[in-house]
Amino acid sequence: MKNWGLTTKILVALVLGLIFGLVVLYPLSGNAFVADYIIGGILALVGKIFVNSIKMMVVPLVLVSITVGAASIGDIKKLGRIGTKTVLFYLLTTAVAITIAITLATVIKPGVGFNLPSDAAYVAKEAPALIDVIANMIPTNPFAALTNGAMLQVIAFALLFGTAITALGEKAIKVREGLEAVNEVILKLVMMIMAIAPYGVFALIAKTFASLGYSAMKPLAAYMFTVFLALFIHAIITYQGMLVTIGKLHPFKFFRNFSPAMLVAFSTASSSSTLPVTLETAEERLGVDKNIGSFTLPLGATINMDGTAIMQGVATVFLAQAYGMELTLVNFLTVILTATLASIGTAGVPGVGLIMLSMVLVQVGIPVEGIAIIMGVDRILDMTRTAVNITGDAVCSVLIAKSEGGFDEELFNAKK
Ligand code: ASP
Repeated sequence: MKNWGLTTKILVALVLGLIFGLVVLYPLSGNAFVADYIIGGILALVGKIFVNSIKMMVVPLVLVSITVGAASIGDIKKLGRIGTKTVLFYLLTTAVAITIAITLATVIKPGVGFNLPSDAAYVAKEAPALIDVIANMIPTNPFAALTNGAMLQVIAFALLFGTAITALGEKAIKVREGLEAVNEVILKLVMMIMAIAPYGVFALIAKTFASLGYSAMKPLAAYMFTVFLALFIHAIITYQGMLVTIGKLHPFKFFRNFSPAMLVAFSTASSSSTLPVTLETAEERLGVDKNIGSFTLPLGATINMDGTAIMQGVATVFLAQAYGMELTLVNFLTVILTATLASIGTAGVPGVGLIMLSMVLVQVGIPVEGIAIIMGVDRILDMTRTAVNITGDAVCSVLIAKSEGGFDEELFNAKK
């Protein structure tokens, strides 16, 4: 077991937790000892420690990673038009991705009838007017925003702070390097927390199934199905549509050429680790010019996460349904905005998308505890969405390269 990768361990924990919860504990859940000491005791404790560790990371991660993201956009200025086009393309495809996700989840209703007991009793807030939502994005006190976990305000401050670092250029290089180092430390801590994920997943899944029995199967399966479907639709309709209409390219050839990188992304669940393969594949098999790919792809691996945004959109609607909450139009717009921004702040390593989900949930008043429910099944979704994340980067690179005359169409079309 020592040599198993984290993915395998988490998947094994998922299956064992499911079996233990459903087969062993659920029939015994009437027994006071099992209910109080095992389900409500040990399993609840391990699960809570894991969830709390994740929640602990949200505010620092968002603050630092978005600041660093905005600060590294400095390089864009050098690239002028290409830079602007790339960023716009990335933001736009992410917004489309999350809209598909929200729409599908609203139609399929994976969470309706799940009736999750909410630990943190939810008090319905009156939805604020859109104008207030926008105006309140600017914190009057950024430190209060951090303390209260007001994520949109934290993001706004981080974006402005990062932009100022960019604007100062050389003078602020130390601040930028310092923050990059802090970012590394925060990511390392996330990795360390992920190392206990198998235990957390086991406890959370066993507890969920021990208390909800077979009734938890259907909604979780429906949730996964909705995420898979939204990822599939985005890859097939949005990406292929763009390749055909904007690029006048053969979409199947794109996927044939790019599939090796997608497989690596799938197996590592990390856009960052896949980056060398993404670069190589885009240049050698898709025909993207080196100068363009070496700018658009690393930037994409950092700020463009369509697959992650899709998971966040589906998860938000799913949990709202499971907690019996109605989402208003303002809520939906907030989800689109927050998840698009969260995509900038999501590092390309396994599991971070789920941590950033809490920021979206907080924003619309859904109990963050809900993450515990979907965490058990997240790994397999993480693998799939990472493949979509890097595909979005590659589609963009191909289209930008083509529009800038840096595209080798012969290589793209060549039989491989
Ligand atoms: N694993 C994803 C990536 O590397 C990020 C996430 O959604 O957790 O692209």
